[in-house]
Amino acid sequence: RLIAKGLSTYAADLVIELSQTHKAKPDLTNLVFGTVFSDHMLTIEWTNAGGWHKPHIKSLHLACSAMHYAVQLFEGMKAYRGADDKVCLFRPMLNMNRMAKSAERASLLVRTHTGCGTEQTSLLVSISPLPRAWRGGTGDCTMGGNYGASIYAQHEAVDYGCQQVLWLYGDDHQITEVGTMNMITFKEALATPPLDGIILPGMMRQSILELTRKWGEFKVCERYLTMADLCCALKEGRVKEKFGSGTACVVSPVGCILYQGENLHIPCQEDFPQLASRLMKELTDVQVRWSQTSMQRLF
Ligand code: PMP
Repeated sequence: RLIAKGLSTYAADLVIELSQTHKAKPDLTNLVFGTVFSDHMLTIEWTNAGGWHKPHIKSLHLACSAMHYAVQLFEGMKAYRGADDKVCLFRPMLNMNRMAKSAERASLLVRTHTGCGTEQTSLLVSISPLPRAWRGGTGDCTMGGNYGASIYAQHEAVDYGCQQVLWLYGDDHQITEVGTMNMITFKEALATPPLDGIILPGMMRQSILELTRKWGEFKVCERYLTMADLCCALKEGRVKEKFGSGTACVVSPVGCILYQGENLHIPCQEDFPQLASRLMKELTDVQVRWSQTSMQRLF
């Protein structure tokens, strides 16, 4: 809604409360995604009675419910600074729509009057393998609560010498996502799991599906792939490429999967396989081109 209305309308009401302490300025020539954050953030309250309130730029209070109960959500959006020094966002309405959906699921768009559960504290220990998301859960929303539980598995993966966790679901080990990326497999067709409630609807996933459908060079489908299907396709030499997709990396090729003690090599002739390279080039070209025109400008 904010973006639709135009941030400039709200900019006039902006209240800025600068924090007393500031972090050291980062080295701008060596920025690593997700490691540098500003001292302040933009917050805008919404109430049924008053709608959107004045926007505030301030530092986050430690007592906020997002810290305690994970009643929160996030969005990852790519911004480019154009040649004229103006900032341009890549497909921001896709992010806004996903954010609205996550906000509804997190009850951030509805006033609730429930109390806080303080009766009992207990330690829950899970010994079963952990799926990233499950049917009826919140895996298809950008809510922080989906991520905390996944960190342990990520550490385990690193101990096994892997870079990311491949998230499987169900007794038949359906391939769902990889780390915090959507998973795309290129065999005879390009395929990724359907948005059935356990898959995060990634901006890059959508952009790749749209772009490859536009090319019209091979079949593009949203369908399930189990580990048994993958092993069989690998044996028959039908797998061409496998890669993760996300705003941060655009595409990230998978070279090897460690599954039940066995290394499954994804055959690729080059360091960066053909389709992944082409997608990387075309998608970053689009982003750079947009940042050089005024199309998606906000500021
Ligand atoms: N899956 C998960 C679980 C993610 O957290 C993300 C990043 N938010 C993605 C996929 C990729 O989404 P996007 O293409 O919008 O960055």
